[in-house]
Amino acid sequence: MQGLPIEPIVSHPLVTDIAALARTVAAAPMSAVCLLDAEENWHAAVDGFEADQTPFVVAAAAVARSELFVIDASVTDDELVDDANVGRLGVSSAAVVPIASPDGDVIGCLCVLDSSRRTFSKSQLDDLGALTRQVERHVDRAVEQHHLRDLSVRLVESERVLSETLTRLEMSNRDLEHFAYHAAHELQAPLSAVAAFASLIDDALAGELDPKLLSMSARHVQTESTRLGARVASLFELSQFSNSELSHGAVLITPLLDDVAQWFDNTIGSIEVDCDADLSVFGDPIALHTLLTNLVSNAQRYRSPDRTLYVRIAARTNGDKVTIAVADNGIGIKTDDLDRIFEAFQRVDGSTPGAGVGLAMCRRIAERLGGTISVTSAVDEGSTFTVALPAG
Ligand code: ADP
Repeated sequence: MQGLPIEPIVSHPLVTDIAALARTVAAAPMSAVCLLDAEENWHAAVDGFEADQTPFVVAAAAVARSELFVIDASVTDDELVDDANVGRLGVSSAAVVPIASPDGDVIGCLCVLDSSRRTFSKSQLDDLGALTRQVERHVDRAVEQHHLRDLSVRLVESERVLSETLTRLEMSNRDLEHFAYHAAHELQAPLSAVAAFASLIDDALAGELDPKLLSMSARHVQTESTRLGARVASLFELSQFSNSELSHGAVLITPLLDDVAQWFDNTIGSIEVDCDADLSVFGDPIALHTLLTNLVSNAQRYRSPDRTLYVRIAARTNGDKVTIAVADNGIGIKTDDLDRIFEAFQRVDGSTPGAGVGLAMCRRIAERLGGTISVTSAVDEGSTFTVALPAG
């Protein structure tokens, strides 16, 4: 029967009791309740003999015939005996009652077997019929429970998906508010500059200003437009990792980290990769690469002028997670600033150019892959950014 675990149904005490009762009511030495599962394997509760092929052959005959059949002293039809394949197995008499599924398909039988040639009375056959209805009711209940369990599993899964979607929506909403405010703020400054310099160009062209100002203003318009373009590009990159589909597959860590280390500028320091062998995380290789190269790029940009840069990437298994820690000996970050650096457009060190969206993007990627990102830092000693992701 489709999707229904027949073995637990057959091994239920009720069914084993029914097999024993069948033997008693029919005064037969052997009885069996046989059911056929979705893969067409037979499962039987037997009483009075060691399980062998006999009950299954009888059950197969019951399924083929779809109706009660009896082989006993009154049956002289050798063809029937042969047809049921029963004679060959040393069983001389059998009463076989088909068991129907809730859909009406025959899925097995209740049978009593005897090695001697005998007859079964009508009341014995009626009692066997009543016991069979009991087995059918048991199967009915099991089917209902199975469907209910199936439904509740699907319900739990839908709730999980819903709650994940809600969390994502809340995150998106929170980020969107932040994003809109800061994006407007970030774009406003270069835009105002472009407008002001354009107006100067206008004045210069009208002869009201020193023509020297014309080329200076044009240069500024160019610079500010480039800055504007860079900010729009970083906004675009952030939005890309916020909304685009991410794949969720096993990604091997060693080649990923080796590739990230390739991006390191060896002229300004050294990088070391330390990774347990065969470690993998569950995630999107491109997004993971973007996340880690951002952290390495920050380590380079926020290096200390007083010492040679040293970056160490270490990957370890931690329960069902893998942690990847990117540590540097750079300028460090003040404790008060640690929380806000993961927000979009929050910059702490203004002396180094940047749009302030790199860590926001790293956090977004980590969260979307079911992970987290955190930081520990000490001013003028260095910082360690740790990404924890589901192990692959
Ligand atoms: P950006 O680097 O463009 O400013 P990020 O989001 O990558 O944007 O970083 C936010 C801020 O966090 C930076 O302005 C910098 O002050 C601080 N920061 C990030 N990484 C490091 C690091 N490895 N060491 C010191 N400060 C860092």
